[in-house]
Amino acid sequence: MTSSFSNLSLAEPLARAVAEMGYETMTPIQEQAIPVVLQGKDVMGAAQTGTGKTAAFALPLLQRMMKHENASTSPARHPVRALVLLPTRELAVQVAEQVKLYAKYTNLNSAVVFGGMDMKPQTLELKKGVEVLVATPGRLLDHIEAKNTVLNQVEYVVLDEADRMLDIGFLPDLQRILSYLPKQRITLLFSATFSPEIKRLASSYLQDPVTIEVARSNAAASTVEQHFYAVNADDKRRALHQILRQRGMKQAFVFVNSKLGCARLARSLEREGLKTTALHGDKSQDERLKALEAFKKGEVDLLVCTDVAARGLDIKDVPAVFNFDVPFNAEDYVHRIGRTGRAGASGLAVSFVASSDTRLVTDIEKLLSTKIELEPLEFDEDRPRISEQGRINDGRRMYRDGEGEDGVALESRPPLRERPERRERREYTPYRQPAAPRDPFFDQPYEANASTNSQPAWESAAKDNPARSAMSANIKTKKKVAALFKTSN
Ligand code: AMP
Repeated sequence: MTSSFSNLSLAEPLARAVAEMGYETMTPIQEQAIPVVLQGKDVMGAAQTGTGKTAAFALPLLQRMMKHENASTSPARHPVRALVLLPTRELAVQVAEQVKLYAKYTNLNSAVVFGGMDMKPQTLELKKGVEVLVATPGRLLDHIEAKNTVLNQVEYVVLDEADRMLDIGFLPDLQRILSYLPKQRITLLFSATFSPEIKRLASSYLQDPVTIEVARSNAAASTVEQHFYAVNADDKRRALHQILRQRGMKQAFVFVNSKLGCARLARSLEREGLKTTALHGDKSQDERLKALEAFKKGEVDLLVCTDVAARGLDIKDVPAVFNFDVPFNAEDYVHRIGRTGRAGASGLAVSFVASSDTRLVTDIEKLLSTKIELEPLEFDEDRPRISEQGRINDGRRMYRDGEGEDGVALESRPPLRERPERRERREYTPYRQPAAPRDPFFDQPYEANASTNSQPAWESAAKDNPARSAMSANIKTKKKVAALFKTSN
């Protein structure tokens, strides 16, 4: 089977863009889907984000659209020909960014529309004429109703992350949107699972689709090192600090199950010296994008988030994901740890399991078909405990927010009892590393995948940090990408 992009005979502008991205070999979903889409067949693909799925549909669609390419500035010469629907704003932004990169040397225009933002700038973009429109369903309907876009020349539709679109309740919106489109078209549906609902959707809207499955839908990336530690609720923050310190890690995602818990934890961790941002459903779109940008630039150490807020975020190769709370839904475990070890890079996923979480862990075991070993976590004895309200407990007294009862910073306090061999290490030093070096690439507004030469701040930081040297950079070779598709059992 073809494995190199050079064997695909892509149009020169597309081949140039792919070469510039640094892709050498195709990922399994690309190997299988690109030839099928080039032939103009419908596809039903089981592939998760992080497998190279976007290029798997975007490149062949752009290739097919090259026959319409023209340099005219008239909007009428650039009707919407491909519509890509996604469940969340973040995913829509990511996919649109990738499409723009693949199409950058062509005259095919693209745009993205999603809710939670002013419609005006989106309308201006649409009115210029775009061949590829990436959208979330609700906002697209708003634009259709406002007559900002016409979809009667659509030839290609991609329903990406279709399972999540159904989960969120987008089915009626999808049905309405699809009713506006020409019947004669190519439809591609991607989903992490082929549930009965997805199969029903496919049978209504796809014609003789070719089914492509690149990995077991529930397989967790095998490159992710997974640990489940038995930790009391009160000790979780202390455990988090300790693991970050021991592993020499600067940045991580920390998942919690509730909005309230998310905001509270973020505040506590901030007090304890970690630059932390909370990402939950109550945050506006603008706040979410700002938080993501700050994380990418290395201005934020921890992104404390709920599942809803983190759905589909493509922040590549985050060194670690912490499940501060074990997720209620086992499938969310797979989505959460998908943030680390993306596209073959190695990653760490740590779950803190309280005694009441046993049933949830059993659900994860069942889903992954893997026995989960609960590990004890040995705490550094000489590190003070951190209690629920951000207090530090050195075994005798409780101090709040790193200060003693008398307001003197704990670091400057003499030890309470002389223990010479441990004296230096008795002092509580909140986990804090020097600010990561700025990467000019990440100073651009939300340009996630612009160049494979650019590195997220955590990766630049890793260079100077021997404890992180095991973390691989973005993966380019086939061997490493292939590792993602091994099943975990
Ligand atoms: P996706 O699954 O489309 O979100 O892609 C995940 C990441 O893999 C994106 O950042 C892509 O830029 C990257 N990627 C896609 N295809 C390849 C490839 N053939 N080789 C290396 N990286 C790739």
